[in-house]
Formats: sequence, C-alpha cells, structure tokens
Amino acid sequence: MNIYGMTPQKLEEYFTKNGENPAKAAIVFDGIYRRGVTEFALLGLSQRVTDRLSKDFALSLPEIVEKLDSSDTAKLLLKLSDGEYVETVLMKQSFGCCICVSTQIGCAMGCRFCQSGRLKRRRDLLPEEIVGQLLTIQNEFGIKVSGVSIMGIGEPFDNFDNVRDFCEILTAPKGLEIGEKHITVSTCGLVPEIYRWAELAHPCNLAISLHAPNDDLRSQLMPINRRYPLDEVIKAAQHFSEKHNRRVTMEYIMLDGVNDAPLHAQQLADLIGERNFYVNIIPYNPTDADCFGKSSRDRLMAFYDVLKKNRIGVTMRREFGSELKAACGQLSSDYTKAKA
Ligand code: SAH
Repeated sequence: MNIYGMTPQKLEEYFTKNGENPAKAAIVFDGIYRRGVTEFALLGLSQRVTDRLSKDFALSLPEIVEKLDSSDTAKLLLKLSDGEYVETVLMKQSFGCCICVSTQIGCAMGCRFCQSGRLKRRRDLLPEEIVGQLLTIQNEFGIKVSGVSIMGIGEPFDNFDNVRDFCEILTAPKGLEIGEKHITVSTCGLVPEIYRWAELAHPCNLAISLHAPNDDLRSQLMPINRRYPLDEVIKAAQHFSEKHNRRVTMEYIMLDGVNDAPLHAQQLADLIGERNFYVNIIPYNPTDADCFGKSSRDRLMAFYDVLKKNRIGVTMRREFGSELKAACGQLSSDYTKAKA
C-alpha cells in the first residue's frame, strides 16, 4: 500500500485497527502534504508508530521521464511502479497554478475527436497515482497547486471509487486543503455515476463533455451517447446542479463544419433552457486522426453570439499547451502508444 492513496478516513481506520489513536491520521496528513516530509521518521511520531508505518506503507512518487516546459504550460511524462506511463499538465495562470490529471491508462470511451481514446483502456489509476501527479508537479516546479481539473487521459467516472478517494485526499483538512469548488471532474456522460457523484456529501464541480446539441450528431461523435442519450445526461446534470446548488459546465468543442453552425448553437440554447448550466466553448486541438478541423474565429464568435442572445452563460476555454501537445484531447504519450 502507498500512503498517498489513503483517505483521512481510511488512515484513521488503520490506526484504530492497530490500537492507536486515530487522531494520528491528521499528523500524517500534515507531515506528508503540508510539510512535504518524505520519510516516516520525520513525522514526529513515536518509534513504534514510525516502524509500523514503514512496514505497512510505501512513501513513493512516480518517476519523471520527460519534462516539457513553456511560459504558461508544462507537461510531465511519469513512469508508474508497474512500468506504465502517464501524462499530467500544469497551467500557470495569473491567479494560480492549475493542473490537469489523468485517471486511467488509455480510455475505453472512443470519442472520435480525442487522441487519448485511441489508446484503449489498459487499467485504472490508483488514488496514489493521481495524487502522485499533483505532488510530483509541486515538487518539480516548487509551486502550490490551487486548482485541479480531472480532465486528462481517461474517463474519471469509469474509475469512480479511485477518483472519489483522490478528491477526498485533495480536500482533507490538514492536508492539501484544495476546496471542492476548485476541483472539476469532467465526464463524457456516464449517467448512473453522475447520480452517484451527486450523492456525495461534498462533491467537486461537475463538467459534462457535451459537444453536440442533438442525439444524431452526438452519437456519431461519442459512442457513449448510444447508451446514455442527451436527455438522460441533461436530467442527471440538472439533478446534480439542484442538489448542490452548483453551476454545471457543458463543454463544447468546436469542430469545423460539424457542430459549429448557428443552428447548433440555437439547439444547444434550447436544450439548456433555464437550467443552471453554462457552456465552455473549446477550440478543437488537432490530433493524429485529423478528420476534424478547427472552427474559424468568425464561426466561433457567431456561435457565441447566438448563445449570448439566448442568455446562456458562456466562456471560451483559453488555449493552453498545444505547442507541447499538452492540450485537451492531445494527451497520449508516445511511450504508451509504443507499448500498445
Ligand atoms: N473523459 C472525460 C475527461 C477527459 S477529456 C471527458 O470526456 O470529459 C477532457 C476534455 O477535453 C473533454 O471535454 C474532451 O471532450 C476534450 N477534448 C477531447 N479531445 C479534444 C480535442 N481534440 N480538442 C479539444 N478538446 C478535446
């Protein structure tokens, strides 16, 4: 077991089971996440407890294999303990450092515009491997991460429990203490898991990869739509939004001549209606498949204007990292490809 995979509750249970005061969990969290301690001996616990922890847990992070760095973005290729590779991205914004973490090796969803989906799913990442992405970035760049997007390689809700544990570790008091409103999980629309997410006491923000305003088009772009059609996805997102009084983001990649006409914008506005959703327009990033093109600035603006006229909240995703192949939909290490 790796200590970075333990939620506060699991660590408390571990101490209780071993006849120790569960409050020691907070001491461990403070040590490994706030003080950055990398040896159990430095936690300030008794010799007995230190020995026990050393026997039961590893305290290790993934190894950096490659580092790409530009003024506003960085990407790390990390090697996991079983030899698999994973990518993670840092976005340096004026208001703080945000990272985009991966949740699986490959992805089973097969969205046609996404590079990551071309790798097939090989396995889920463990909580410690997702936490490890964050800690490795903090250590490597000497920064404190203030926001987390769960939008790297993989479908987070296809690895629900590990992603939930990851969020619990991020938000734990005495630990990294990243607030749940500074974390966003993005799903291609796994409806039962959206309801499960809504059941959590303190879920992080929800984003839905929508990308099309009608079932015909969405099913062509995203195979998952045949299992969970648009109206079910919208209903689930609305349930989450109402239960937690939170705005839900609808992500929409602009694919030239495919989903970016003013008519599509009108359909999208009608679909959203009065719900507490907003649209995040995403410029398409080219991938190896290249059967899609980027919408022109004019088409993008025309789409934006239709949404605005219909009083739909809308933002444009700033383009980060395309020069490093670190942008949305471009993550997929050549290492993983070589092994696939
Ligand atoms: N599987 C999850 C999270 C990973 S994708 C999901 O589908 O939401 C993160 C975001 O990047 C999604 O909105 C996804 O649709 C988008 N994306 C995928 N390929 C892209 C591309 N080529 N250009 C721009 N965005 C892309």
